[in-house]
Amino acid sequence: MTALNEGWFTEIFQDQGTAFSLQVKNKLHEEQTPFQKLEIYETETFGNLMVLDGCVMLTTRDNFLYHEMMTHPALFTHKDPKKVVIVGGGDCGTLKEVLKHPGVEEAWQVEIDERVTRMSEKYFPELCEANGDPRANFFFGDGVKWMREVEPNSIDLLIIDSTDPVGPAEGLFALDFYRDAMVALKDGGIVVQQSESPLLHTESIIKDIHTDMRKAGFSHVQTLPFPQPVYPTGWWSCTMGSKDNPLKYFREADVNDRPFVTRYYNAGIHHGALAMPQFMIDALEDQVRPEEG
Ligand code: SAM
Repeated sequence: MTALNEGWFTEIFQDQGTAFSLQVKNKLHEEQTPFQKLEIYETETFGNLMVLDGCVMLTTRDNFLYHEMMTHPALFTHKDPKKVVIVGGGDCGTLKEVLKHPGVEEAWQVEIDERVTRMSEKYFPELCEANGDPRANFFFGDGVKWMREVEPNSIDLLIIDSTDPVGPAEGLFALDFYRDAMVALKDGGIVVQQSESPLLHTESIIKDIHTDMRKAGFSHVQTLPFPQPVYPTGWWSCTMGSKDNPLKYFREADVNDRPFVTRYYNAGIHHGALAMPQFMIDALEDQVRPEEG
């Protein structure tokens, strides 16, 4: 639910009894796409704001936190990621971070709603600056169907950068989807999914992701919390699943020698994000193996 009051955009989380507001200067764009209502605002202090079906997706000012944490921990945990697939991620911020890795030979963005990408090109051009990279490929269609049909054993890293698990994104948080992902990933493959708020969703969405990833055959599952000021509670997470290798280890020397700039991610942040809060360890007790706790 949203409210617009005297120059403020407010997203109301009715069931939590909370809300988040940004002071806005202008509405830059509004349309009903075939999939969702897409709005873009110019804010006073957070740059541009994208909203899908009333839910804040990103702002110019703080999207680096989310995009860096959705990509670099997984890319530096995989031994040698060459082919990366992003499902969702239509704003292209995740794609931009993936393509910073020189070892990536091919990256796909599989986004259901082409209008999100077209409006991101217009209002978030800095996120789309790698779109012309020869390694970048775009497919506009349903990621659930795409994953069902993709060549088995062909992907190193799958990043699920989706909206909340309702509407078209519901199927991206499902056991069948993880089973298809398992088939599509090569040995050593990793899946990483945006997994909502640790405070609000550990007992529900995050627990279900752990259970379903394990049921699908991912032997190690790890949730990494990180700050995200514009999302409900200001605290978000991604959850990685690995086909075979423990997720506690990453290529730390390569992180320290990375040939590109990050604003949030570094080796210390990676170590810190692997340390799950005690209440999450307790809630995920059945799912978390001793060496991962
Ligand atoms: N950072 C955001 C968040 O956590 O709220 C997500 C940003 S990104 C804009 C999410 C994208 O997922 C949207 O553009 C949406 O169209 C896309 N999406 C939702 N369901 C999808 C599906 N089944 N296949 C492909 N893309 C999907």
